[in-house]
Amino acid sequence: MTISAQALRDLHRIHQQLADLRGRLDRGPKQIQAGRQAVERGEKQLADAKEAWKKTRMESDDQQMQLEGRETKTEDLKRKLNECKRNEEYKILKDQIAAEKQASSVLEDEVLDKLEKIDRLSERLKEAEASLEKARDQLEKTQERVGEQQVSLEIDFARITDELNRAEAGLPADFKSDYQRVIRAHGDRGLAPAEGESCGSCFTILSPQTMNDLYLSKPVFCRSCGCLLYLLEDRKVGDHAGSSD
Ligand SMILES: [Zn+2]
Repeated sequence: MTISAQALRDLHRIHQQLADLRGRLDRGPKQIQAGRQAVERGEKQLADAKEAWKKTRMESDDQQMQLEGRETKTEDLKRKLNECKRNEEYKILKDQIAAEKQASSVLEDEVLDKLEKIDRLSERLKEAEASLEKARDQLEKTQERVGEQQVSLEIDFARITDELNRAEAGLPADFKSDYQRVIRAHGDRGLAPAEGESCGSCFTILSPQTMNDLYLSKPVFCRSCGCLLYLLEDRKVGDHAGSSD
């Protein structure tokens, strides 16, 4: 049973091309998935930013109402003070007004802080909107690009698969099961060239007998890693200095 080095070289190239195409076919949907996740993150950030803005806005409205209430109360106390005739009552009212003013002043500071916070949250809201829009835009572009790529990759994949089928049909029948076993186990890494006189996959030095078998176009598997070996260039038994026969 013999198999030409050329046939094995072709098979290896075909398997490598198919592996590359499979990798690229897998990558597209992963890129789309990553884009979708970015959009989801953007939506969540926007929802959070909206919620934070709304909550602070409500707190601020509430504080402003409290402040107005205190001011009305202070005005009321001042009016009472003006109408007051008794010293004792006068002092009490004066103290109450001072306390109200003190409380109002604290509340005013809080209202100002809240308004500043609302400004910052409005900025964050705008940023979240912009980044969500950007993520959606990018996802759309990725989907478009991947869609086009997948079509041409699938065409290539079908063409190379045809080529593989034709190449495999030419293999000797009694070799096919060994070949299929190594491909099933290792894919495109199931074949390796003999580089110099070592296995191109695991770099184990190949015995003179193994080299001879290769020159005789016999199917040879590396004893160390199990790869189906082939010669990079066509050579004859006589070219091999270590030839034992
Ligand atoms: Zn090896």
